[in-house]
Amino acid sequence: MAAAKLSTDTNTNIPEYEYTDVNTKPFHIGSFRNEWLNRLKPSNYSYQAEDEDAFEANFAEEMGVGPEIMTELKSVCRQRRKRQDYKASLKITKNRHDLYADELDRLTVGRKPEVVADLIPEGEVILTINVYYPAVFEKHPFKLTKMRITMFIFKLDAICCVSDLQVYGEFSNTPDIAPDFVSKDHFKSAFFFFEGVFYNDMRFPECQDISMTTIEWAKACKFPPYRQAKMEDTRFMDLKVKVGFPYLYCHQGDCEHLVIFTDVRLVHKNDCLDKKLYPLLTHKHRVATQKCAVCHVFIGRWFTTNDQFAPCDPCLFCDKCFRMLHYDAEGKKLGQFLAYPYVDRGAFN
Ligand SMILES: [Zn+2]
Ligand SMILES: [Zn+2]
Repeated sequence: MAAAKLSTDTNTNIPEYEYTDVNTKPFHIGSFRNEWLNRLKPSNYSYQAEDEDAFEANFAEEMGVGPEIMTELKSVCRQRRKRQDYKASLKITKNRHDLYADELDRLTVGRKPEVVADLIPEGEVILTINVYYPAVFEKHPFKLTKMRITMFIFKLDAICCVSDLQVYGEFSNTPDIAPDFVSKDHFKSAFFFFEGVFYNDMRFPECQDISMTTIEWAKACKFPPYRQAKMEDTRFMDLKVKVGFPYLYCHQGDCEHLVIFTDVRLVHKNDCLDKKLYPLLTHKHRVATQKCAVCHVFIGRWFTTNDQFAPCDPCLFCDKCFRMLHYDAEGKKLGQFLAYPYVDRGAFN
């Protein structure tokens, strides 16, 4: 971690602990990067591989193998590497969103882009943040689940939260149109809050500045003033943050996540070097799913209330059981009940 070393330097651009082993004092990311660049040789952060011939000669000597075996070894490894690269490319381009985060992390190690323009320049900074899910105390009393995201630019698209997928409304009369009302398509406003500044996501015309209410309230209460900025216009280099300190990410009006910077560092040749693949979800806790109350096999997709067919109120059903129990062969509603679409927290597992 960038802040692991306690600095005695008075230069505030070098992270220093505010609370030992917990978090640093705020520091300016661009200046911190410059401190590194001034101290390192370009070869320290260059993507160029070290001299291959020297490496092979050392390897042969250490392993006690002759030139023939070395040649065979190289050819086998090269073919294998090619096959692995090809498979990884296919997986990343075709099923990126179906991959487990840990798998995506493995597949993107040292990945270079297809076009040079997508290559992250040497000496750039990448950030890693942990985004925590809102705690559900009744279910997981002491467990906070989280995802880890590595970012090259300031963008929150990799944050996956079920409240973006929720569908609000009662759909017992029209269950087929429920999927058209996914929250993320309608409510795109969101912000990060770091060091007294709200960074609003204003990329889409329907985005609203949802930080304004808090800013005005703080002003009315004579609290120190908060500022606001557009997330999409903010570069990492301009940010001033504390590593290890809990900040806030808020979307869908009131879905609040703790966000902690865990790493601020120069990009390394073994990182994913393809700009297009960032922000990169590199880890995600899997959470337990809630099953249908009838078949106990499939994940719940609907919950009903005031439902004469249900064993409990509210009751969770998978799509199949919900439709079999509540509609006739022509899709006509049977009996009285209210039905609400449900997206399980494990939907992103
Ligand atoms: Zn959320
Ligand atoms: Zn079922």
